[in-house]
Amino acid sequence: MKIILFGPPGAGKGTQAKLLIEKYNIVQISTGDMLRDCVAKGTEIGKKVKSIMEKGELVSDDIIISLISDRISEEDCSNGFILDGFPRTITQAQSLDAMFDEREISIDHVLEIDVDFDLLLGRIEKRASENEEARQDDNSSVLSKRLLVYKEQTMPVLSYYQEMNKLKKINGMLNIEDVFKEILNVVESE
Ligand code: AMP
Repeated sequence: MKIILFGPPGAGKGTQAKLLIEKYNIVQISTGDMLRDCVAKGTEIGKKVKSIMEKGELVSDDIIISLISDRISEEDCSNGFILDGFPRTITQAQSLDAMFDEREISIDHVLEIDVDFDLLLGRIEKRASENEEARQDDNSSVLSKRLLVYKEQTMPVLSYYQEMNKLKKINGMLNIEDVFKEILNVVESE
């Protein structure tokens, strides 16, 4: 099973991805995690992306596309995967289509965890202010920036899948278990 999971920062995307990988015995491919790993290890890519990530901006499409292309070819992806945090731009979505065509595979489900942006911003700010160790202004402002980047660059990707009749919206304002139930309803009804 191959799933793309969309959702803005704070929507609970990572949590739902974890529940899905357990249920279906598939792997989670999080470009954010892959990049953080590169930064932690101090690789060439890590050095290039560190400051971009700290600002809450998007890393260049070339870097991301090559990371994903290598990753989905690995053995553990053969039973399926969840793309979490990718694609985030139209260019990335088009490249993913090309990768899938080349490998003669296709995506099974494109899901959007739909949340109220105003409430989300409140949630994010609350979370930032409760985290005493972080520099609170920074934290809150980077998250707000990521939300803006999501609106401007990733929401057009949702329209891209909607036009192909592939996008399914999930109500992300419910509690974790109920969001997961909604996801299962969609995934198992098709
Ligand atoms: P995430 O954990 O998915 O929110 O990603 C953390 C950060 O990694 C983002 O704010 C971006 O700077 C970068 N990033 C992750 N995935 C992508 C992507 N598909 N395209 C560009 N930048 C990305």
